Amino acid sequence: MTNIVVLIKQVPDTWSERKLTDGDYTLDREAADAVLDEINERAVEEALLIKEAQGGEVTVLSAGPDRATDAIRKALSMGADKAVHINDPALHGSDAVQTAWTLAAALGQITFENEEPADLIIAGNEATDGRVGAVPAIIAEYLGIPQLTQLRKLTVADGTVTGERETDEGVFGLEASLPAIVSVTEKINEPRFPSFKGIMAAKKKEVIVYTLADLGVDPETVGVANAGTTVTASTPKPPRTAGERIVDEGDGGSKIAAYLVGQKII
Ligand SMILES: Cc1cc2nc3c(=O)[nH]c(=O)nc-3n(C[C@H](O)[C@H](O)[C@H](O)COP(=O)(O)OP(=O)(O)OC[C@H]3O[C@@H](n4cnc5c(N)ncnc54)[C@H](O)[C@@H]3O)c2cc1C
Repeated sequence: MTNIVVLIKQVPDTWSERKLTDGDYTLDREAADAVLDEINERAVEEALLIKEAQGGEVTVLSAGPDRATDAIRKALSMGADKAVHINDPALHGSDAVQTAWTLAAALGQITFENEEPADLIIAGNEATDGRVGAVPAIIAEYLGIPQLTQLRKLTVADGTVTGERETDEGVFGLEASLPAIVSVTEKINEPRFPSFKGIMAAKKKEVIVYTLADLGVDPETVGVANAGTTVTASTPKPPRTAGERIVDEGDGGSKIAAYLVGQKII
């Protein structure tokens, strides 16, 4: 029996146009469709596979505004048992450290049916919007638990989590005793689609809403005004140009090489 918390984040759909707000350069959440981040669908899937194989309970945890409820319902319709939603306007514009601090506070309060805390916390390796790739590691630091990040494979047995961490340097075998936090990559699994039964069942599942006060988090420690990092400007990506066409008249190879040298690519 493993008590699992999955950290899920609602992000702007990568297929819609994503924008920053003019005032404080935070994400313009109204400008784009919002979805459960795909990497978090995989994190939920992994939790469900563990539960189905060896028993346990899966709680999803998200920090986000009202509309994050849609992402939470999706995770519940996939099969998670209950959800915790941290929803407080003071969180607007929080950076990775503040987000991790708030999530760690909630993780300290979440208990399961057996009245025990989480054994395993599963996150995505990198969110599609912020792309900081650090929240799981910062949470590990705050909670004083081991972190196994960038996992493409994950096994839980006898109070131990083992995994294969894949980076540009190669594949590493990792092991830690529970409780621990892990982050998974897109190679971990293929997430299931919610079934009709799952969607109906999700409507009745418990969603606990916490404000910062409920978690004992001082609002003066979070939010864009108190963030350790500040976005001071943003420039939209220039539109793609047509590129340069090289006609091969016997010297195509040297022309391409000259072009690449000119671009400082080689
Ligand atoms: C336009 C823009 C500018 C930003 N500028 C900065 C900046 O200057 N400095 C800075 O530190 N951050 C910045 N962020 C990041 C932003 O504050 C993040 O939403 C937050 O800090 C977490 O970072 P991340 O989502 O990139 O985390 P990652 O570390 O990439 O997320 C990894 C995993 O952690 C979990 N997780 C992350 N956030 C949540 C959440 N809210 N609820 C539940 N689980 C979660 C998920 O499992 C996720 O897959 C910016 C974001 C945007 C969109």
